[in-house]
Amino acid sequence: MKPKFLIATLSSCSGCIGTILALDIFEEFLERVELVYFPFLIDETEIQDTDIALIEGCVSEGKQVDVLKEIRSKSKKVIALGTCASFGGILSLSTEKDASPIADYIEIDGIIPGCPPPPKLLGNCLIKLLENKDLELPENNLCANCPLRGELELKFRDQINDLFPEEINQNDERTHCFLRDGILCLGPVTRNGCECRCIEFGMPCEGCMGPVGEDFTSNTINFLSMLRLSKELRKYEGIFFRFAKPKIRRRLE
Ligand code: SF4
Ligand code: SF4
Ligand code: SF4
Repeated sequence: MKPKFLIATLSSCSGCIGTILALDIFEEFLERVELVYFPFLIDETEIQDTDIALIEGCVSEGKQVDVLKEIRSKSKKVIALGTCASFGGILSLSTEKDASPIADYIEIDGIIPGCPPPPKLLGNCLIKLLENKDLELPENNLCANCPLRGELELKFRDQINDLFPEEINQNDERTHCFLRDGILCLGPVTRNGCECRCIEFGMPCEGCMGPVGEDFTSNTINFLSMLRLSKELRKYEGIFFRFAKPKIRRRLE
């Protein structure tokens, strides 16, 4: 019997769903599962009993908590799809809206991180799920696979002045770590698994895959405390809350 899948969206940009739809294994996925709820593709409007629920997006409105609880009660496994669902995501930067990860309200069985999740990782996770196997995420940090890591002898006394290089060039001939040039890169505290896609495009890592451990913000703050951030960067909350707000600052609770 085919496993039943439910794919739902809370507050999001729909980029994670878009990534699923664009996967090269999506056709195979459709053949191997029974989709019981997926408003992007099928007309079913009622939340159905399911084996696996994938939830995209963060919780930013009270009524979404009821939806989440209903999904939890009807699903054998609930997986947070993407960084919004896993950690709160980019909405954490808002001063107007709340942004909580779904695990603040329901028990979950795993996360597929990334903004959006890297296609290869996402495809592998979907196959694991439809075969009823546990998800496997990389347990090391981004630097472990970074093509620039050869020069990763961090001089923590160097001052970090910038978030981006002056010129962004996909064919950048960069040969050394961004941190060595005084450009902030969150690779040391970010989970591996995206194949260094920003680094390959000439940009430092902003941390969208989240932490290797549990807590996003404290990992980042510990790391930043080892660097000498310029005065301007120290004032910029976006470094700390780009993808997750610390629990104490979430207002829905
Ligand atoms: S994790 Fe990123 S791509 Fe996915 S819904 Fe959130 S903002 Fe969009
Ligand atoms: S800090 Fe960034 S640029 Fe440097 S090795 Fe790590 S991921 Fe690569
Ligand atoms: S390099 Fe960093 S910000 Fe870019 S996709 Fe990978 S984890 Fe996300």
